[in-house]
Parts: sequence; C-alpha cells; structure tokens
Amino acid sequence: MPDASAFSPDYIAARARFRAGALARRAHLEHHPLDALGPDGEDLSIDYARIGSSDASRIVLVTSGLHGIEGYFGSAVQAAVLEEALGDWVPPEDAALVFIHALNPWGMAWKRRVNEDNVDLNRNFLLPDEPWRGLPEGYAELDRLLHPRTPPGTFDPFLPKALWLGLRRGGTLLRATAAAGQYDRPRGLFFGGNGPSPTSVLLREQLRRWFGPARDVLHLDLHTGVGARGRLLLLTRHAPDDPEMNQLAASFGRDLLVPWLPDGPKVRGEFIPWLDHHLDVERYEGLVAEVGTVGPVRLLTALRAENRAHHHGEPEAPATEAARERLATVLNPMDPRWRKRSVLVGVRLVQRALEVHLGAVRGARASA
Ligand SMILES: [Zn+2]
Repeated sequence: MPDASAFSPDYIAARARFRAGALARRAHLEHHPLDALGPDGEDLSIDYARIGSSDASRIVLVTSGLHGIEGYFGSAVQAAVLEEALGDWVPPEDAALVFIHALNPWGMAWKRRVNEDNVDLNRNFLLPDEPWRGLPEGYAELDRLLHPRTPPGTFDPFLPKALWLGLRRGGTLLRATAAAGQYDRPRGLFFGGNGPSPTSVLLREQLRRWFGPARDVLHLDLHTGVGARGRLLLLTRHAPDDPEMNQLAASFGRDLLVPWLPDGPKVRGEFIPWLDHHLDVERYEGLVAEVGTVGPVRLLTALRAENRAHHHGEPEAPATEAARERLATVLNPMDPRWRKRSVLVGVRLVQRALEVHLGAVRGARASA
C-alpha cells in the first residue's frame, strides 16, 4: 500500500528514486539535462521512462512537475507506481506506460511553482499562431494588488482589498483574471514567458521519438492545489455535453470530472492542448489530475506572498523564508495524512488508466 514515504524531501532524491524505480522495472530510461542548476549546484534534468515497446500504438502517459514544487506529489505517485503498484504487470504487446519526471526541474529543486525565468509552464505552451504578448482583461487593475514592489513584512492589507475587489466585481474575477495567464509582466504571477521555455523546446525535439507510431494516448498530468483537500479532480477540455465526457465518466467516475466551461476564463498556453496539437496521433485524451490542498483564496495569497518575497525580499530574511514555507504548505503539504491520501488516489488513478486504456492489468495489485 503506497503511503507518505513515497514523497521525496528534495529534487535530487526524487529523481534518484524515479530512476531506480524505472531501472528495477527494466524500463527504457532517458536523462535530458537542462541548462540550469539547483540550490546546491546540482544538475537538473527531465527524465523519461517507458515500460513497453518503443513502437506501441496505445500509450498511457503520466507526467509530473510541470508546476515545479507540485512535482513532489507527481513524483511520489510515479515512484509508488514503479516500486509497488504495478506488481508484476507487463504491458500488452502494442501498449506502453510512459513517465516523464519533473517537467520543471528548476521549480521542483528550488521549490517554486514557476521555472528559472519566473514562467508558469502551464501558460507557456502557446500554439504556433498565438502572440507572446497580452494581459487578460481586468489584469491591469489587479497588478498593484497582486504585485507589491516592497519586501515581505511591510504593511500589506492584501486580504481585505482582495475580498473587496472580488465582491465588487462578482466574486471570481480575481481568481479568473489572475489565473488566465499574462505575457507582459515578467515578474508577475501566472507569467507565460516571452518564448518557448527550455522544457517546451526539449519536448518538441523528443516528441516524435518518444511517441513514435502511437495512435492512441491517454495522458494524466499530475498537479496539486485545486479542489477539496485530499480529493482528486480531473480537469477536462470537454464541455459538459461533449460525448467524450460520457466515456470519461464511465472510465473514472463522473464526480471526479470537471468540464470545460465556455464562459469560464480564457486560459492560453496550456500544456495539454499544445501536446494535442503537436502529437501526431489519432486520439489524444489529456487530463489535468489535481489533488486539493487549501481553498483558492489561501492559495492565491500564498502564491502572491512567495512571488513578492522572491523578487523583493532578502534571500535569507525570515519573512522570505516564511513565504517559501507557506507556498510549500499549499502545494506540497508535509501533513502525513494528506500525503498518504494523495499518493493513494494518484496511484489508483494510474491503475485505472492502465485498466481502461491498455486492457486488463495482469498481476497488478488492485488493492494498492
Ligand atoms: Zn499545477
């Protein structure tokens, strides 16, 4: 039974565990260094593991760490699947299970959500015709509120102001506008970058080789921070009435699914639509798998405080350290009960994906 011990304390330990787990299962393993270093000068990489044939036509893909620090959860799920949950499972002949570990290794190593250029990678995957410019409507108004130019610790009545603004403009404006992503404030929250990130460049170079002649890909991109504490949600790109929703409901349960809403915030640069565009396959289904931690106001408050401390605080100051710790409590909680539950629901999700997409999971422990 996977538990909190699947979590690693730092990036190096997480990567070592991922590699060891993959090698023990005789996976095909690749190591792709990025041009950035961790806090102790360690090299950083995106690691790829495949169990099954390189010309598999059906693939289950599980990715972690697109949002840096959230990758401790994703990495724990990948480790637990490799180390124990697969049992003696071997994929059917034309199928493969593929893991990509730490899509944003810098953010994971430095325990930030963004990469070395302050880029939110899930806003960085613009499609070929989209401009690397722009602020969502209403963002300019929020700019001063979200991005104080002072070090942490100075007087800062953020919450009352945020609540007032949120109430005045219809409740969800703050969240919706802020999280939609922006391309004009490089030190701001939800900055999508001004060009493809090193992660995006690497993926673009490897996609054809990694996915070869695959025809049918089911992708789980593991995250934390959305939804009720310890509960799993699957964010889809389908509207409530789309036929795909019925299929997903049959596979994973309708109560886990969050449909795309046509009148919701317009988010650009997301990873899943980009993969869908660039993967040359007949069918691609991508799901953002989220395990909840805290409510949206606490989450946004913590993101804002950490961004402020990173850009305006003294690196060693107690207030900077406090902001970092606060980010960890909302995206990578230490709480053993949360960890145990989250890794369990993550592992069950991967097992279910293998079952529905690749057929019977021979030898896997259904109880894990
Ligand atoms: Zn995330």
